[in-house]
Amino acid sequence: MLKSNIRLFDRNLPKVELEEAAELLRKHYAVEGEVHALDGERDLNFRIRSDAGDFIFKIANTEDGEDVVGFQAAALKHIRERDPSLPVPVIQPGSNGQIMQRVRTRSGGSHILRLLSFLPGTPVDGASATQRTWREIGKLMGRLNVALGSFYHPAAQANDHPWDTANCLRFQPLTRHISDSAARDLVNSVFDRFHHVVKPQLDSTRHQIIHQDAHSGNVLVDPTDPDRVVGLIDFGDLLYGPVIADLAIVPDRTERSNDSLLDVICNAAVGFDAEFPLQENEVDLLYDVICARYALGATIVAARGALHEDQPRHMESNAPLVEALDELMTIGADAGTREIRRACRFPPALTGADEDALLDARHRLLGKNATHFYSRPMHFEKARGAFLYSTDGHRYLDCYNNVQQVGHCNPHVVRAISRQAAVLNTNTRYLYGSILEYAERLTAKLAPHLDACIFVNSGSEANDIAWQMAKVMTGRSGGLLMEDAYHGITGPIREFSPGHPDTRMPDHLQGLLVPDPYRGKYREGTPDIAEKYAADADRAIADLARCGYEPAAFMIDSALCSSGVPETPVGYLRGVEKRVRAAGALMICDEVQSGFGRMGQWWGHEFHGMEADFVTMGKPVGNGHPLGVIVTRAEILERFTAKTGLFSTFGGNTVACAAGNAVLDVIEREDLIENGRVVGDYLRNGLRALADSQTLIGDVRGTGMLAGIEFVTDREARTPATEETARLLELLRQRHVLVGSEGRDANILKLRPSLIFQRKHADLLINALDDALGALAAT
Ligand code: PMP
Repeated sequence: MLKSNIRLFDRNLPKVELEEAAELLRKHYAVEGEVHALDGERDLNFRIRSDAGDFIFKIANTEDGEDVVGFQAAALKHIRERDPSLPVPVIQPGSNGQIMQRVRTRSGGSHILRLLSFLPGTPVDGASATQRTWREIGKLMGRLNVALGSFYHPAAQANDHPWDTANCLRFQPLTRHISDSAARDLVNSVFDRFHHVVKPQLDSTRHQIIHQDAHSGNVLVDPTDPDRVVGLIDFGDLLYGPVIADLAIVPDRTERSNDSLLDVICNAAVGFDAEFPLQENEVDLLYDVICARYALGATIVAARGALHEDQPRHMESNAPLVEALDELMTIGADAGTREIRRACRFPPALTGADEDALLDARHRLLGKNATHFYSRPMHFEKARGAFLYSTDGHRYLDCYNNVQQVGHCNPHVVRAISRQAAVLNTNTRYLYGSILEYAERLTAKLAPHLDACIFVNSGSEANDIAWQMAKVMTGRSGGLLMEDAYHGITGPIREFSPGHPDTRMPDHLQGLLVPDPYRGKYREGTPDIAEKYAADADRAIADLARCGYEPAAFMIDSALCSSGVPETPVGYLRGVEKRVRAAGALMICDEVQSGFGRMGQWWGHEFHGMEADFVTMGKPVGNGHPLGVIVTRAEILERFTAKTGLFSTFGGNTVACAAGNAVLDVIEREDLIENGRVVGDYLRNGLRALADSQTLIGDVRGTGMLAGIEFVTDREARTPATEETARLLELLRQRHVLVGSEGRDANILKLRPSLIFQRKHADLLINALDDALGALAAT
């Protein structure tokens, strides 16, 4: 094995003098001119200046037959066909019309001749190259890879040569020729990592035919403007290999330069990525593959020096390679990869983040009161389906987040967003079909009278516009809401968001008593409980009147999320609606929480049997992409816009509509509402069974994929277990489950998992809760 590898080092250059070369040129190409010998590793190369133009004359190594030389010729032809503006040499046919000539030279060797066009320009050199130069070279290599992506040749895997980075390990035994022991250890450590960490991953990255030799000697730039890349030469190392290995050669450092090598790498990667987008598994390996390439170079140069006298002139010492490798290893693969990812705008990698520094910067830049979950906020940088992945290396089951209704990073939604973002992102002042397709689909899911849409960016905005419309339609300015409601953050809607029943509300608003049969004023078993609670609407309307206001609208979140998801008595909201309408007010049904299947059917207001004048939507509409919608009657929309006009720059833009349509696709195609119903019931049954042994659980309620668990320290007295609930959140986090607390006493767990949840996820949650309650009891 090693013996045949050493053979690869044997340059065995053809033995042809200048004068014989000139004669071969005359004979086979009818070219005459000044001939100069050039450096070459395997082929003998001459530069020709002639009246017919400048050329490179190549006499191939005896080892290289028609297959290997033909492979290179076919690749050059393919590149020219695919991307004619790529500056690569053009093969000139001989007098017989053939692009390869087999000849026997005076010394008896049989060789293939080729004549290539000469590319003007000067090899890029580290000293004058700018960061832009490296980006341009990266782009050139990206374009070359695009062109070669559609090329194959039977000899592609026969072109075995020492510079094949993916196969560098075969030369590790030759590191013994590296005389400096520190350099030898360094190179060996790179090979060891390549063996254990890099190679197994590299094998599963994209492979195709690659040039595999774009070091600075082979990339030509305009001598007056090094940012202009004018040529790529030497296709002798072409082989079938990993795409990333091609890019890994660009930041070649055989010459000294003051530039940071990491900057060079990042810029080369950015250029490459612009033309041939890198994949995540490639960007994560680039740094290591570059190190491997340097290690390979340092080994080959040392071994050649020891085994053969005839080193090519540009490779007399491996010192610059070892120096560069040392620079890279000092930075480290993690830090280096992090920078490359940042340069290409890949999301940050999971490892190595300094969370204390992030927290400090957060306080400084976002303010000390920027809220976060948990005393020490979680740091997530990746999510998929039901899970979030954190920097501490764990995956967390997300039972809290009600935005990613069809699962985190749902691939269909992600593709829809990125495909649309790649072609057009514009606003509702232009014509486009997707917004109409979306509006048709959305209104078809609602009662027939709800037939017109307005697109905004958030739930708050949706509620704000609905509230403005209700005031215009009724000519009134009083509002009704639940006493602890939350509807958003715009000025008027903040007033609709007291969050707690004790909050003082402005005179124009009145809060209704929360219909909580578990701990509210009227408890389960009370006769006519729904009517008793609904009667509080009469009280609220009368109180409004006392303050001089008539109600324009009642704003209601059907999930009653901020009230802790109470088991609303059947008929309660119908009873409120009856009173609201009798008082001349409109119904704003806030479906930010309850919509899109959360409650086991499309809309929460329908679950309660209400009729809406406005349905407002947010959170799950775009599965995380900002999109808010108000659906109302066309007649309301007409009247309102005739008076005020309405335009939101981002609301309902083409990308938002792509997200909205894709979310509907997934819910429909995967029958997710039914899934939410089935798995939600399974979850609640499991939680109720848990209550047999865990006495802190006072009540389990909810519908569809919405659940509330109320904790009490005394089941008889229903004493809220506020402190215990706070500790439970933390204990569940330690068990890798994310939940949130809710309710006036913060003693209720609010569970709103995505609709893709399966029974196994529900089991994870139930088991973690059982365990956390056990741990709580033990303290
Ligand atoms: N309405 C309800 C019922 C909500 O829960 C929320 C957000 N929690 C909003 C409106 C406001 O939505 P956004 O944060 O998108 O403005």
